[in-house]
Amino acid sequence: MRVGGRPFERWAASVLADLPPLVGAPLHLDIQPGLTSSGGRLFSNQPHRGRAVYAASFIRKREIVLEEELPTEGGLLPAILLHELFHFAWVRAGNEVRRNYEALLREELTGGARAEIGESSEVSKGRLHGQENPSNWKHYVCESFCDTAAWHFSPKSSGPIRLAARWRRKRAAWFREWAARIDGGVRL
Ligand SMILES: [Zn+2]
Repeated sequence: MRVGGRPFERWAASVLADLPPLVGAPLHLDIQPGLTSSGGRLFSNQPHRGRAVYAASFIRKREIVLEEELPTEGGLLPAILLHELFHFAWVRAGNEVRRNYEALLREELTGGARAEIGESSEVSKGRLHGQENPSNWKHYVCESFCDTAAWHFSPKSSGPIRLAARWRRKRAAWFREWAARIDGGVRL
């Protein structure tokens, strides 16, 4: 399998080497060209349907779909793969961990933190508009967790980061603590 013209196994192995052990039932990976998404559905080579996406995860099907033509420069590929993997980790992290991460983000917002650590979280943060729409908020917290995990475990793979350093340090501390308390590996 190739992504962005490069063998998938080669770069995936180096990305996964930076992570704590991952545990859980196998995940299925699919690589398709021309991915677009609309209303929770994913399409390949149907450019008129939905908007272009780099990847998508289907939690119940335990499936990750990656865009075949992902650009390989700038560490985008690893960041996207890690982001998708952590969608599975978020679901299995447990309520206490999720509430704890949510509290961290509330503290940031109260403190006036702008921007985020990745594209997905930045877009979903922009949709909050300072309002407490529960589904927008839930979506934002999840995207933020996935982007921050990708950055934390593989800093060289992330794209431009606009969240201020003082908030980044708190995120890194949160993930260090989380990783230290994980028993037997990250459950996916
Ligand atoms: Zn996401």
